[in-house]
Amino acid sequence: MNPELDKKLKSKNIRPTAMRQLVLQVLIDQNTAISLPELEQKFEKADKATLYRTLKTFEEKRLIHHIEDGTGAVKYALCHEKCNCHLEDLHVHFLCTKCNQTYCLDEIQIPDIKLPSDFLLESVNLVVKGICSNCKK
Ligand SMILES: [Zn+2]
Ligand SMILES: [Zn+2]
Ligand SMILES: [Zn+2]
Repeated sequence: MNPELDKKLKSKNIRPTAMRQLVLQVLIDQNTAISLPELEQKFEKADKATLYRTLKTFEEKRLIHHIEDGTGAVKYALCHEKCNCHLEDLHVHFLCTKCNQTYCLDEIQIPDIKLPSDFLLESVNLVVKGICSNCKK
């Protein structure tokens, strides 16, 4: 058991289990978002349903958020420390058209969107596409 991972899980009211710690470690090691099939590849022996439930728990507890980047696969990424997954925490995502990786651009907020007065904003999904710094080298 890694005390750092333990602390991070407990800070989001997630009971630390060995599996949750392992999944969290993978998410920390990645600097891009990860899809469920990609996660499954890293855990060949683990039950797929368990991995899926782990992601769902993490998302419910706002440890991670999901991204629909238009590739068809839902991807998941770690929330930054102070994220509550509210509208004001939303940020731009970047999809690299070369490596197909999706990045959280936490420091770039979604611009203010002025809807007609009788419309209610619930979420915004803003994906910017281009070539990532890795592929640009
Ligand atoms: Zn979040
Ligand atoms: Zn790339
Ligand atoms: Zn993100």
